[in-house]
Amino acid sequence: MTRRREIGANSYLLEAGNSRVVLDSGMHPKAAGFDALPDFGPLPHKSANAILITHAHHDHIGSLPVLQRRQSETPVLMTEVTGELSSAMLHNSVNVMTKQREEESITEYPLFTHRELDQIRANWIYRDIERPFTLPDTDLEATMFDAGHILGSTGILIREGSNTLFYTGDVNFEPQTICRAADFPASGIDVLMIETTRGEHARPEEYSRKGEKERLAALIRDTHEANGALLIPVFALGKTQEVMLMLHELHQEGLIPEMPLYIGGLSTKITVLYDHYASRSRRNYPGFRLLEDTDILVPRKGGRKRQEIVSSPRTLYALSSGMMTEHTASNQFAWKFLDNPRNSVAFVGYTDPESPGYKIRTAKNGDMIKLARDLPAVPLRARVESFDLSAHATREQIADYAEKVRPKKMLLVHGEEASQQWFMRRFAETIPDTEIIRPDVHQPIDLW
Ligand SMILES: [Zn+2]
Ligand SMILES: [Zn+2]
Repeated sequence: MTRRREIGANSYLLEAGNSRVVLDSGMHPKAAGFDALPDFGPLPHKSANAILITHAHHDHIGSLPVLQRRQSETPVLMTEVTGELSSAMLHNSVNVMTKQREEESITEYPLFTHRELDQIRANWIYRDIERPFTLPDTDLEATMFDAGHILGSTGILIREGSNTLFYTGDVNFEPQTICRAADFPASGIDVLMIETTRGEHARPEEYSRKGEKERLAALIRDTHEANGALLIPVFALGKTQEVMLMLHELHQEGLIPEMPLYIGGLSTKITVLYDHYASRSRRNYPGFRLLEDTDILVPRKGGRKRQEIVSSPRTLYALSSGMMTEHTASNQFAWKFLDNPRNSVAFVGYTDPESPGYKIRTAKNGDMIKLARDLPAVPLRARVESFDLSAHATREQIADYAEKVRPKKMLLVHGEEASQQWFMRRFAETIPDTEIIRPDVHQPIDLW
């Protein structure tokens, strides 16, 4: 059911005998309106036995309410953390779509409402990791394993008799600041579905996460000394919380001076949930509450909503979105920020080549930056640096894992064409007996 070969509206249909299971129900991050939805066409109404969700990022849950409208009796199974994060993300998505309807005249928006979101929760069922459960009215059994990508994220193992399929979802095989490394099964998997997000990215030999953190600390110290401010564009879910704890760590280690840290609206809601599950999830720093225990965080004052965030010197701003998409906090903030040579911007995640973030990242000092259609361009004078603090495993780590598993068949998903080519070339040499499949839209694949 996936619509295009890239990081898009992730959604996959498994059929076994008379049973139908849907894995993830994403929304395409770049497309708009109905085009952003997976094509649910091949799945007749009220025919799915179960919907399984790996994690709460938009490209994995964004279309879930639309799918549930068509599959109104079907249970949705996921971890409790994923469920609660999904609810916050989807409610925010209603607000974003409502705004886009007004500003961009996308008449089909919003694709679902707050009321609908409250109703569909009746079919959400929470399951713990590493505990197998039966999918209702089927002979299928599923088990979720920690994927180390964001809080609550999982890879999902499906068993039918003696046959097994494992879907990694988005995975990280090394620890981040909050998330621990993925804990995936490494044997007994017949069919492996892997994400291929970073297939085009070769990590430099000398890379270490510690090195990246120290480089970030140096940029913060320089910015402080120059009496400037630092903007870190971040995704509200996952990256914001990782960055908050990393900044706290750097401050504790004496690597950065005392500087207040601001985060934005949705990020605060998500951070409340991270804190809510601080002691009840598999993570580093168990019990650490970001909103209470981070000594540099400035609490957002209540009262006036949608207050414009104005830059002050010697201050850190971790604002969403990570790609600085139009109409988001980081984009709007940048307009009065980029032309000041005392300021700095630190990119810590992926930016799509069409995004304003990418423009800034690849621009030269003095270049004019057009941040949004309705804003005049501004000259880039701030210092810009990028850091590899990805929440996705490197291509080598994913390939190593797949080679350890040695599945009979492997499906490459969640990656651009060129990314998947890298994996194809590598697996042709290392595991030539494994059949590698790059699923096309609507292409039915015999798994066993
Ligand atoms: Zn993700
Ligand atoms: Zn994803």
